[in-house]
Amino acid sequence: MARKFFVGGNWKCNGTTDEVKKIVTFLNKAEVPSEDIVEVVVSPPFVFLPVVKSLLRSDFHVAAQNCWVRKGGAFTGEISAEMLVNLSIPWVILGHSERRLILNESNEFVSDKVAYALSQGIKVIACVGETLEQRESGSTLAVVAAQTKAIAEKVSNWANIVLAYEPVWAIGTGKVATPAQAQEVHAELRKWLHDNAGAEVAASTRIIYGGSVNGANCKELAAQPDVDGFLVGGASLKPEFVDIIKSAT
Ligand code: PGA
Repeated sequence: MARKFFVGGNWKCNGTTDEVKKIVTFLNKAEVPSEDIVEVVVSPPFVFLPVVKSLLRSDFHVAAQNCWVRKGGAFTGEISAEMLVNLSIPWVILGHSERRLILNESNEFVSDKVAYALSQGIKVIACVGETLEQRESGSTLAVVAAQTKAIAEKVSNWANIVLAYEPVWAIGTGKVATPAQAQEVHAELRKWLHDNAGAEVAASTRIIYGGSVNGANCKELAAQPDVDGFLVGGASLKPEFVDIIKSAT
């Protein structure tokens, strides 16, 4: 089954109103493959979601970087899935390693968020990935399998999930995974999905790579059979993001 290439831009906690408008300006001018070939989703900080959504070209979409684990209410400082629905935000990034590690989000908490966001009709970019220590001790596959299993236990329909493999040691470090390293983990994740969620889910779920992707290294990574796109941090704030979108073809 053909999996449409997916390129996400994770802007993290960056930008001012003027800066995000500048990013939107270069995105709107970019000549990129059509929506049938590549799905493009950018994720500004919450406060800029409305302005970005209102100015962004209609073939690109927006994602929130997080949302609350259950129905909104007395949870000071949180943003609920219902609010994202209210603003017609179609996507959310959940389980990013910065939230897992700095904000102590557990596998279970992340999977509860994934299940709740999906139940509200929001599509999810779910992130998994090992630390350097875990890689060096040989537990990469066990770590990403446990993170994926926690999600699989709470989710039966994978149609609205994109799985992002983001090795922590590659995020923001300039130390990108080699195409072979990325392919190895992506193939294992697909096999895990095959064995635990079924052949159809394994064949159709996009598994994207994130961690120091840039305009120079994206082509070779995109050529790997199980790399279905990217989640891009630093380079998504710069015009080279357009080159990464173009690596879809
Ligand atoms: P990076 O971040 O591209 O800056 O390494 C990727 C991510 O955290 O999604």
